[in-house]
Amino acid sequence: MKKNTQLLHAGRNPAENYGIVNPPVYHASTVTFPTVEALKKADSEPTEGIFYGRMGTPTSYDFEKAVAALEGSERAIAVQSGLAAITGAILALVKSGDHILVTDSVYFPTKKFCNTVLKNFGVEVTYFDPMIGAGIKELFQDNTKIVFTESPGSLTFEVQDIPAISKAAHERDILVMIDNTWAAGYYFNAFEHGCDISIQAATKYIGGHSDVMLGTIALSNALYKTVKTAVYGLGYCAAPDDCYLAQRGIRTLPARLKVHEENAIALAKWLQQRPEVTKILHPAFEDCPGHEIWKRDFTGACGLFSIVLDEKYSAEDVARLLDGLTLFPMGYSWGGYESLMTPFNPQGARQATKWQEKGPCLRIHTGQENIEDLIADLEAGFIRLNQG
Ligand SMILES: *Cc1c(COP(=O)(O)O)cnc(C)c1O
Repeated sequence: MKKNTQLLHAGRNPAENYGIVNPPVYHASTVTFPTVEALKKADSEPTEGIFYGRMGTPTSYDFEKAVAALEGSERAIAVQSGLAAITGAILALVKSGDHILVTDSVYFPTKKFCNTVLKNFGVEVTYFDPMIGAGIKELFQDNTKIVFTESPGSLTFEVQDIPAISKAAHERDILVMIDNTWAAGYYFNAFEHGCDISIQAATKYIGGHSDVMLGTIALSNALYKTVKTAVYGLGYCAAPDDCYLAQRGIRTLPARLKVHEENAIALAKWLQQRPEVTKILHPAFEDCPGHEIWKRDFTGACGLFSIVLDEKYSAEDVARLLDGLTLFPMGYSWGGYESLMTPFNPQGARQATKWQEKGPCLRIHTGQENIEDLIADLEAGFIRLNQG
């Protein structure tokens, strides 16, 4: 079966649920055992089964099955946010004295976690140029345990050569993790390209309606127990209603992504013709570092990209553009049905590389609106931009 067909069926079983299409939502803390024997059995396999609410419920396990089908992994673990998926997976696999490599283009809260919590626990972090490819091997140390990638990078969209990075890492038994949120686990198969762990903020496209906080860790059976034990020990767990909503989101993910993709490409093409715009940072466009890698390794693009405006525009000019938009409110997060636009400045967030662009940057999430309405809103915005 093709992936989009699989995603309609994974993690549900109507035959066991009165024929009802969707599984029920279990709210649970205590799980009771009628006999000492049953209690002992549950105790003996603490990372599997229905044992205690925080360990997992039929609702979270069903969602995890659907995520594993999406990512093409053996297992998946749901936690309470995308950032919890990142921190939990890293904490599960490092100890004091270890070293990890992290892409310089990483989602900023990931960097913050590395520079504070990891540092305090004696884990050394080196940031690397997202375009490093096989050159990553020059940065390996005897104590390097993880290469943490994110492709394309948050805000700046560099597409990484994951096969080259993975090949170099695996020669040294170093694990490769990817933050796969942009591709939603659908447009990039992390495992076929050599990753060991694929993480997503399910908050974004899997949820898809801006009303869920959830993270997923897709991984092999071999890594499952170690990571599950750590996230359980940290007290991480995913809420049942969020798992239910996100599982519903997976059913329509391919259909929604297609609209986001088409709208974003149409909008980016329109923006490319505008004299105010100097760069389109969208992996499907030539301006974007790693465009050729995207063509080789990805099967599509989502609705999120950035643009760089001419350096002649001031922050006040950009504020006039943004403040009057009706279909692009500013807001963190993305992946819902609605469009968003936020200003950002990568300067100061870089360690291994230098941000070369001088003009103001805008990150755009292209939603499900009619493309003509989106263009009309931006057209009026550009008139305001030039009224300085
Ligand atoms: C939003 C985001 C996260 C964090 O997800 P939360 O659910 O908000 O914690 C991690 N990585 C990327 C790339 C994101 O965009």
